[in-house]
Amino acid sequence: AKERDGNNFQFFSSEMNIKVLERMMLENSMRKALEREDFFLLYQPQVDTRTGEIKGLEALLRWRHPDMGVIVPDKFIYLAEETGLIIPIGEWVLRTACFQAKAWQQQGFAPMRMAVNLSAKQFGQKNLDETIAAILLESGLDADRLELEITESTIMKNPDSNTRMLQKLKDMGISLAIDDFGTGYSSLSYLKHFPINRLKIDRMFVRDIANNPDDAAIVEIIISMAHTLKLSVTAEGVETRPLMEFLASRNCVEMQGYLFSRPVTAEEITTILGNGLKY
Ligand code: C2E
Ligand code: CA
Ligand code: CA
Ligand code: CA
Repeated sequence: AKERDGNNFQFFSSEMNIKVLERMMLENSMRKALEREDFFLLYQPQVDTRTGEIKGLEALLRWRHPDMGVIVPDKFIYLAEETGLIIPIGEWVLRTACFQAKAWQQQGFAPMRMAVNLSAKQFGQKNLDETIAAILLESGLDADRLELEITESTIMKNPDSNTRMLQKLKDMGISLAIDDFGTGYSSLSYLKHFPINRLKIDRMFVRDIANNPDDAAIVEIIISMAHTLKLSVTAEGVETRPLMEFLASRNCVEMQGYLFSRPVTAEEITTILGNGLKY
């Protein structure tokens, strides 16, 4: 048994070394990616289902790795957070999204919001408001065209100072959305005090509405809570027509999901903006 334990230990420790090595390689190539601009953004429409109009676009980060191909954020955001690289990456995302939004505006497309995800580390930056103000100025995008998506758990990491930052951003005219709503643990009393404009209902609840009465009830409660608090509400992960119909019948107007469009390139969005969405 001792021998086996010994082997297990060796196995475990070489496994650990591989993990450490992988992390170092990933971190290294992330730094290079930033220099070489190997990151790019996809955009996913947020749709008013009463009219079919695109009200907003969510910018979603991708990494085109020279060997590994396109990598999705769930595979590298955590490491970007841990290493602090999320700060320059996040700034790049904000800048790129704002310039793109301004370009669409100048091409004459109907006004819409550009929604950008912020990570906890970014949100914890004391001068975040100044960084964003500079990017808005540089790009010429009006503040009310920008929406920031922040998760409940990000806000709750430091509710008091984060609420102050939310207020500063809101005072600038920026719109604020709580992302993945329902998965965190913010209490209702906090929700009332957060200076926010929108709740985004997490895909996890939306997905199983048809089969899971509890999820359906949760979604209904979130929608009516949003209305009571005079917040806008967007359902994410809407993949099917019955889901859309359920949500619409509960007065959820805005939706996002594969039913309308997957996240696509800026070029594809330009085509969609020209032709309208088909779903
Ligand atoms: P999220 O903000 O909740 O974004 C929604 C995710 O759901 C996106 O995954 C999107 O592609 C996916 N999605 C949209 N509609 C559907 C649908 O109908 N069905 C299914 N199954 N999925 C759908 P993605 O692009 O892989 O992003 C994952 C997460 O990575 C995001 O979750 C967000 O938390 C984070 N993220 C993405 N871009 C950024 C960024 O620029 N900065 C930061 N900090 N985080 C980002
Ligand atoms: Ca989001
Ligand atoms: Ca979300
Ligand atoms: Ca999510």
